[in-house]
Amino acid sequence: MTNQQKNDFTSWYIDTIQKADLMDYTPVRGCIAFKPDGYEIWEHIQAEMDRRFKETGHRNAYFPMLIPESFFEKEKDHIEGFSPELPWVTEAAGEKLEERLALRPTSETMVGHLYSDWIKSYRDLPVLINQWANVFRWEKKTLPFIRTSEFLWQEGHTAHVDEEEARAETMQMLNIYKEVVEELLAIPVYDGQKTPSERFAGAVDTYSIEAMMKDGKAVQAGTSHYLGTKFAQAFDIKYLNKENKHEFVHTTSWGTSTRLIGSVIMVHGDEQGLVLPPRVAPTQVVLIPVGPWKKNPEIMERLDKIYAELKAKGIRVRLDDSDQSPGYKFNEWELKGVPVRVELGPRDLENNQAIIKARDEEEKISVDLPTIADCIEGALNTMQTRLLDKARAFREKHSHTHVDSLEQLTQHITDSTENGEIPGWILAGWCGDDACEKQVKEKTKFTTRNIPFNPPATKSTCINCGTEAKYTVWFSRAY
Ligand SMILES: [Zn+2]
Repeated sequence: MTNQQKNDFTSWYIDTIQKADLMDYTPVRGCIAFKPDGYEIWEHIQAEMDRRFKETGHRNAYFPMLIPESFFEKEKDHIEGFSPELPWVTEAAGEKLEERLALRPTSETMVGHLYSDWIKSYRDLPVLINQWANVFRWEKKTLPFIRTSEFLWQEGHTAHVDEEEARAETMQMLNIYKEVVEELLAIPVYDGQKTPSERFAGAVDTYSIEAMMKDGKAVQAGTSHYLGTKFAQAFDIKYLNKENKHEFVHTTSWGTSTRLIGSVIMVHGDEQGLVLPPRVAPTQVVLIPVGPWKKNPEIMERLDKIYAELKAKGIRVRLDDSDQSPGYKFNEWELKGVPVRVELGPRDLENNQAIIKARDEEEKISVDLPTIADCIEGALNTMQTRLLDKARAFREKHSHTHVDSLEQLTQHITDSTENGEIPGWILAGWCGDDACEKQVKEKTKFTTRNIPFNPPATKSTCINCGTEAKYTVWFSRAY
């Protein structure tokens, strides 16, 4: 944690994304424009997710953005969960519509309506479809990338012959999310099951991956839902089984969104601003001539050569030969979070060396010019791993297992604040009663994140009522 991050994390965050030129506000409340450097981070996430979806047999399709009001009324929990956040289209071409149309918050209802037509027999199953789209949830409090009224995401919608197959799909997709978020974004996550009150509206079970930001708050980084036959019954999605009998399909849905961009910034950023993991950085390496380079044409010749070598390796490289001072350029590219900077001046060239500096490390290192492309590639790979290690160490440091009662939690929060620390997350027992969960939230603003599959410890008593714990749960403040 740095000073500005400590004092006011939100203003640090907004400063960082603005200095890095990732987004802009628009006159539409809660709706942001993704500028190219922000959008490209999403494109790298998309590419990796999409590759893994296709590897596991899924195909992309597209569904309409407008959803008839009557569709929402078919699934009771779904309408209850989403209706407060829905924007509506009520007229078109100067006339009032007979039925209001919602801007989709998610597509289970439209998909359900269509799947009831598309699925007739067990031979049509499984249906494995994903959609890349924008969705709308009219949020009261917004924060760029993390919570916006319109955002980009992917939503998978699958249908299966039975519960076993649908549950296997639900877990498979959660695992893909965990792998992509850890490997590509260098963000460690806890995977687990949501408590009933935190479930997706209309799901039988919701699973999530949860990540810790540098202010200790959690971001739900991806969710995967087993929907049972609830949507199949609401939309009449039946198939003829091998015995020629009608059965309801079992469906799943799963999603990740552009809030992953916000998470990357909040997990890796520092006092200088953005720090991007190499695998998602729009520019991975920047080459900067230093010293009296304009009088030495060999400098630019050599940088052109390095540029070509890096390009040939598939590395996203920029050469900054603008007339700003090197110090100015260093600062600019640091604000943009570029993972590796290369400096080359006349004296370096004489020594047949160049200087490289990783964005997240203090010291610069000299490397031999003949092997520089390999060295840079190595530096990018090392940084990718190092960022995950650092984020993991940070998370371990701020994950607490010693809190077993509400009094202890209140004390823990007070102590942390007094010591200038963040309260982080706590692992605590829970009896399974909604009322206990609610009480913890009201008193401390700590909410249940998930019931982790592999908790670092097991708890025997409920944090609120002290009776026997049925579950061991992560609690924290969350975005
Ligand atoms: Zn309890």
